[in-house]
Amino acid sequence: MTDDATNATQFLLCSNCFVDEGLRIDSSKHGIEQEGECPNCKSHGGKKLTREHVLGIAHRFFVSGTTIRFDYGAAPRVQCNEYHYGKSDISPSPWLKNDVKLIEDTAKIGFFHYGPRFWMLGEVEPLKALQDSATRSQIIDRVLKEYPERILEKEELFYRVRVNPQRPAEPDEYDSPPLHVAGKGRLDSAGFAVMYGSQDIDICIHECRATAEDDMYVATLTPVRGLRLLDLTAVLKEEVTEFESLDMAVHMLFLAKSHSYEISRDIAIAARGADFDGVIYPSYFSLLRTGGRPFETAYGLSLRRFHPQAEQYAKAYMIPNFALFGRPIEQRNVTVKCINRMILTQIGYLGHFGPVAY
Ligand SMILES: [Zn+2]
Repeated sequence: MTDDATNATQFLLCSNCFVDEGLRIDSSKHGIEQEGECPNCKSHGGKKLTREHVLGIAHRFFVSGTTIRFDYGAAPRVQCNEYHYGKSDISPSPWLKNDVKLIEDTAKIGFFHYGPRFWMLGEVEPLKALQDSATRSQIIDRVLKEYPERILEKEELFYRVRVNPQRPAEPDEYDSPPLHVAGKGRLDSAGFAVMYGSQDIDICIHECRATAEDDMYVATLTPVRGLRLLDLTAVLKEEVTEFESLDMAVHMLFLAKSHSYEISRDIAIAARGADFDGVIYPSYFSLLRTGGRPFETAYGLSLRRFHPQAEQYAKAYMIPNFALFGRPIEQRNVTVKCINRMILTQIGYLGHFGPVAY
């Protein structure tokens, strides 16, 4: 075996080596069950950790675990790499100090306060232009031109979940909400109804914020004819930096909260004006559903844009939703194939830990 291969399989630490409870639980989840004494703490019961495991723990706990969201974008407060080994500048809680040192010496890395690239905080020119009502329409024109169209074919299936409908067996209960209540969502506006659906049932449940007490129903829907949709989940190929990227602007827009809705609503209105039947857009819950991390970077570059398999990378962390304009069931563009009652038996939360101070 080469040195590298030996190192890759060599156990250096175990989950009992750490004092911080979050690090103990995380390393116990990801480590390997293996008989024998830990070379560091000499205990027998902990899950064994290679250098790769320790690097994974370091990223989850200190990078992902210190990530803060902004109005648009998100960035970690702490980063680590081999160049900072021996030059660490973070100030962890007293119980975490030795754990930090152990991770640094084992993985030969150093933790440091990260000054994020400004694009990660939403300093993206097309995004700023979208927020300004004077320049918004120019950018929306580009969105309509540069994003591809996708046909939702006749016979393709998608789902729509309703919580506590009055007449659950009636197909028209699954149409867009009536016009007088339109204007509360991400893409509908006053006087402009939109039907939200997805091919991922779990996302439908998230999107309607259902709980175990709700009476829930799911309609299986299918288009009556091919529907022309503007595909905002596409990854644009661009020759510009993140700061000028329309792709990054739209990506950030759909991961932002309700302060962004006036922009997405204007995009929907413009798409309807261009004779689209609806849009496909990335679910706000994409990261929760896929376990992705927001705006991941390597050396300050967006992985979404610079990953060797950027498109596959981006798609792996994105769940597409449909927004169909008008009242597609009433207008006979979509038909209800089946309706089921849905019983939630388990609602799960998955997570990991981060430090409280750094
Ligand atoms: Zn140990």
